[in-house]
Amino acid sequence: MQNLPVLRVGEGHDVHRTITGRQLMLGNVPVECEFGLDGHSDADVLLHAVIDALLGAAGRGDIGDWFPNTSAEWKDANSADLLRHVWTALSAAGWQIQNLDCTISAEKPRLGRWKPLIRDRVAELLELSSEQVNVKAKSGEAVGPVGRGEAIAADAVVLIVGKPTT
Ligand SMILES: [Zn+2]
Repeated sequence: MQNLPVLRVGEGHDVHRTITGRQLMLGNVPVECEFGLDGHSDADVLLHAVIDALLGAAGRGDIGDWFPNTSAEWKDANSADLLRHVWTALSAAGWQIQNLDCTISAEKPRLGRWKPLIRDRVAELLELSSEQVNVKAKSGEAVGPVGRGEAIAADAVVLIVGKPTT
């Protein structure tokens, strides 16, 4: 057997309820919006989906295993810190990211002008080039919790590469 690099794919999904009086954070970017998202941490739905995709690819469980929402330690946590914590552990284990593709599903706000900012910030957090990250935005087509503006959802898929096994 040749020592081929190990490739692993992971997916992540998250959804948070919309709530007034909180700053909307998407990919660690504060997005102008009349509402934010409810949650134990800063409720950055995109970074939570990215964290789950990374953990899924590496076979390391899920975000709830790493950061229990019953833990006071992570209350109002900055999700960028959670992402850095996870990625530090995975990169120490030899994993590198090939590419990351994400979709944010939100009826409001319209994210067109925010997409490049979010992409660049997520790339920066993971020490990637912007070309390795893609951020897509969809509306909820006026149906379901996303379409009624009750929630924002995010999905992420990541491909990671590990050292060849000997
Ligand atoms: Zn979440």
